[in-house]
Amino acid sequence: MTGQLSFIWDERLRAYDFGSGHPLSPLRVRLAHQLTRDLGVLDLSNVETVGPVSPASNADLARVHLPEYIAAVERASAPGARIDPSHGIGTEDVPRFDGMHEASALVAGATLAAARAVYSKSSLHAVNLAGGLHHAMPGYASGFCVYNDIGVAIAWLLEQGVRRIGYVDVDVHHGDGVQAMFFDDPRVMTMSLHEDPRVLFPGSGYPDEIGAPGAEGTSINVVLPAGTRDAGWLRAFDAVVPEALSAFEPEILVTQQGCDTHYLDPLADLGLSIEGQRASYQRLHALAHHLCDGRWVAVGGGGYEWVDVVPRAWAHLTAIAAGSPIDPDSPVPESFSGYIKSHLGRPGPELMGDGYEIEPVAWTQGYDLLDPLDMSILRTREAVFGHLGLAADPCPLWPG
Ligand SMILES: [Zn+2]
Ligand SMILES: [Zn+2]
Repeated sequence: MTGQLSFIWDERLRAYDFGSGHPLSPLRVRLAHQLTRDLGVLDLSNVETVGPVSPASNADLARVHLPEYIAAVERASAPGARIDPSHGIGTEDVPRFDGMHEASALVAGATLAAARAVYSKSSLHAVNLAGGLHHAMPGYASGFCVYNDIGVAIAWLLEQGVRRIGYVDVDVHHGDGVQAMFFDDPRVMTMSLHEDPRVLFPGSGYPDEIGAPGAEGTSINVVLPAGTRDAGWLRAFDAVVPEALSAFEPEILVTQQGCDTHYLDPLADLGLSIEGQRASYQRLHALAHHLCDGRWVAVGGGGYEWVDVVPRAWAHLTAIAAGSPIDPDSPVPESFSGYIKSHLGRPGPELMGDGYEIEPVAWTQGYDLLDPLDMSILRTREAVFGHLGLAADPCPLWPG
């Protein structure tokens, strides 16, 4: 499944920086780019690096953000501006910084460039590792996110006349901002698989959030119990995503690949390995080919283990999108390990994977009503499948 890949890259994207000590360091995206490059992925003949990019205009932003919010970000962005805690700016999660409007608009512009490449068919797939700011709301900043680059790109695609867009968010946190922006829009199906909102930010993403009247079944949430590992995560994905997306028949697939589901991530408590994350990217890639003639816009997202996790996860993502997946048992290039050692004074990962083997058990083989994960999957299926013309479940299997 090889097609043209647009890899969006602009050195100025590193300006999206809340300062030292903040978890969303631009270093993580820079290291992901570096590892991807050192692996030779960007040299493949079907991969085109696209950039520099233009920032999203205020008109682009205003498709999903309120004008007064954009104005507040612009005010907060001026050098030396006072901290204004309205609109979620100037908080611990979203500190203000000089130039924050321009830096945030550039991230949105990069995801717009990815959407343009796929819409115009200049590329089959497009990847923007700096994108994925899924918590930004129409009228306020939240969870490290100022402008919602994903929402901006989806709204632009709708304006071009795309009739149905599928959005799948595999970040460990609920994709609340994107869900809110299209909750009442039957043209966009948002799906998010995330750790239990009772124990993790942002505290939303329950199965009963199914979409507003007229759009029921186009907002889908899968709650994963804390501690869910590769096989359970993939079982949940397989039990919900392919069937629901197939029923929806999207023309373009947009996906957010936050890699904070990893067991080393300091901000959350799922237990995925690089192999599990890689398997999720392969599934999304296959779904894009199967359902959308390959049209796929992929962005980054969360991920706070900057050295051991983010670079490898997103190098795999980009390699899969390039049609040249990397074996998880292969070594990390010495150029990358050497850089980590000399610049960060610590060893980097040695292999491209964590050494895990995964064998998810298919939902169709039966489920266990005493298992919290299975109960969770069932709740989601029961909440939305009927709205999509699908059966939530024919015959439950009791344990024993
Ligand atoms: Zn492909
Ligand atoms: Zn996250």
